Amino acid sequence: MNYNRIWNFNAGPAALPLEVLEKIHKDWFNYPNAGMNVMEMSHRGKDYETIHNGAITSLKKLLNLNDSYHILFLQGGASLQFAMVPMNFLTEGKTADYIHTGAWAGKAIKEAKLFGKVNVAYDGKSINYSRVPRQDEVSLTPGAAYVHVTSNETIGGIEFFDYLKASNAPLICDMSSDILSHDFDAKPFSMIYAGAQKNLGPSGVTLVIIRDDFLKTAKTTGIPTMLSYQTHIDENSLYNTPPTFGIYTMSLVLQWIEGQGGLPGIEKINRTKADTLYSAIDNSGGFYKGTVEVGSRSIMNICFTMASEELEDKFIKEAKGAGFVGLKGHRSVGGIRVSAYNAVPLAAIEALTKFMGEFKWKN
Ligand SMILES: *Cc1c(COP(=O)(O)O)cnc(C)c1O
Repeated sequence: MNYNRIWNFNAGPAALPLEVLEKIHKDWFNYPNAGMNVMEMSHRGKDYETIHNGAITSLKKLLNLNDSYHILFLQGGASLQFAMVPMNFLTEGKTADYIHTGAWAGKAIKEAKLFGKVNVAYDGKSINYSRVPRQDEVSLTPGAAYVHVTSNETIGGIEFFDYLKASNAPLICDMSSDILSHDFDAKPFSMIYAGAQKNLGPSGVTLVIIRDDFLKTAKTTGIPTMLSYQTHIDENSLYNTPPTFGIYTMSLVLQWIEGQGGLPGIEKINRTKADTLYSAIDNSGGFYKGTVEVGSRSIMNICFTMASEELEDKFIKEAKGAGFVGLKGHRSVGGIRVSAYNAVPLAAIEALTKFMGEFKWKN
């Protein structure tokens, strides 16, 4: 079916799989046997419970997690996690290590400092955050409360593929912009969190995964009920009304990812997409210039610049006219950013690289 949709490279909220949108559309007025839209259901009813627990089951399956992991659906975005993590886990007398890889890590550090002692164990400022650190560039604190990393810097376009080892401290990762985009071992992480609106679904849901042994190190007093992980774990994310429609949409996205062959399947497609784009950049004779060191190039957010800002503006404007949106780099860094999350099809990338070739030829 042709809906006249355009090629959507938005950085977040971002493209959703068309199959998911079609499924939502199909059940819009009457979710099978419920006689209502999912939005109209009680979050305490059987129909919603099945959706909610189905999403948890899918996540555990995709990430190969056993029952020592708690899966939570919270609100407040990844940005609230920047505060909730230290609020719960940066205990008196302890230090938290943070890896400063760019804009998002910087925001996490700013919040953590409100709650306790923070050691910036690595700061990529001097190289303009153009790559992820090597293990030997990171100075970790012995006995740290935790080590916090950002697996993919959505604005700078750098991504970890070999994760840092946190020695014996718990490892926490903000995976907002690359969760479920490639195959990885979740076991070394004590906690993972991600706003849903890049790779998992609509905005309004935040996925949090916490291993039980790490949860046991959390503060038990002095935390507002809604900001304590324990509250949400005790109630299976149903302490208060959760973002039910967002969780429903996420459950459909998770099923869609399973249908793509799970993480190995989706990684194959995502790597082909990223390789196609980076080749177009590298083979442009310097017309398009990548901003990130090759080994750290994100497969989700592909950033490049051109000879002048005027030329970049012209590119964005003409691209828009040709049906490509969301290409403007973040206002803090400029340039072009192509966000190629899971739901962006290879065809979109192929169409864009064709456009890039033509634009280069004309200019
Ligand atoms: C988008 C993003 C955030 C912020 O997410 P919100 O849900 O808007 O709070 C945090 N970290 C990373 C890596 C992101 O890409």
